[in-house]
Amino acid sequence: NLTSAEGKTYTIATDITFAPFEFQDTNGDFVGIDIDLLNAIAENQGFNVEIKPLGFNAAVQALESKQVDGVIAGMSITDERERKFDFSEPYFESGVVMAIAEGNEDIASYEDLKGKRVAVKTGTEGASFAQSIQDEYGFKIVTFDDSANMYDDVKTGNSQAVFDDYPVLAYGVAQGNGLQIVTEKEVGGSYGFAVAKGENGELLEQFNDGLANLEESGEYQEILDKYLEAKK
Ligand code: GLN
Repeated sequence: NLTSAEGKTYTIATDITFAPFEFQDTNGDFVGIDIDLLNAIAENQGFNVEIKPLGFNAAVQALESKQVDGVIAGMSITDERERKFDFSEPYFESGVVMAIAEGNEDIASYEDLKGKRVAVKTGTEGASFAQSIQDEYGFKIVTFDDSANMYDDVKTGNSQAVFDDYPVLAYGVAQGNGLQIVTEKEVGGSYGFAVAKGENGELLEQFNDGLANLEESGEYQEILDKYLEAKK
């Protein structure tokens, strides 16, 4: 593709394991809604991307210190983050839910968390939400850098619950990850692509233009269906 070969190359950081948005396939290649969407937008707009799977918090910090050009990582658009970053148009709706191990019948609501351990991922909306209700419900917070280890901690019973994004937990549960969702979705921000505030305006504009084009052409929906419909 001549156009993209001539275009700029941007370094984009992402999470390590956050299926269906970013994860490694059986060949070890990074795939997922975020990755496919970014690649399709890059092709549509004639730029190149180098994807760096750093983990969520590390990706956000790399962007803050301008070591990377952008982040796509199921990253929620929040008021606090909008002070440090410029976000694209939202591309996916999310929200935080609580999950527990399959077969655990002791926990059905936040009230049942008293004295229990709750797993969260550093720097996420799920972690902020857990912190915001921790005093009220009297649980202990255990932090992780990635979702896979965090879910394992609940499955093995070291932690009794986890707070994470609804689309990711729902996908994992449908894939048989050994967890079950027990609460209604809390209000959360939609996902956006982020650049550092005032930096990479051209990239942000191209992301928005490309996203609009893909939404119109149906390619955006095809990417979602590839990961979400096939699993139903
Ligand atoms: N959407 C959540 C957030 O932005 C979690 C993102 C993630 O874990 N990759 O905080």
